Amino acid sequence: MHEPAEKMAKEAGGPPNDEGRRRLLRHGMYASGLLLFGWRGLPALAQDKPMLDPDAYQARALDYVEDASNAQGNSAYQAGRRCGNCDFFTASSQACGLFPDYRVASDGWCSGWTASTS
Ligand code: SF4
Repeated sequence: MHEPAEKMAKEAGGPPNDEGRRRLLRHGMYASGLLLFGWRGLPALAQDKPMLDPDAYQARALDYVEDASNAQGNSAYQAGRRCGNCDFFTASSQACGLFPDYRVASDGWCSGWTASTS
């Protein structure tokens, strides 16, 4: 692994193991896509999109669940975290920046949860 990725993982507090590296790479791929397409512009288009199926491969990649209470056993989950208070979520359209082709449940959660900056 390249040194900057390891440094990012350590700064993020993630364990420097294979799972941590895989998660970092997944998040990096999604982040790259967001930079290309600009996720803040997506909410207006999201209202006609289908709800994200938790069994879809991209949902499973980030451990998405429609009800955050079902994430209790996930080591990345912390109580109180849900789509409704995630920075990637737009309540008016149920849009999520990490899943631009779908809407997500406001009570859902995934391992990409990020503290809201607004
Ligand atoms: S927790 Fe955040 S990143 Fe994950 S599905 Fe919900 S809104 Fe999207």
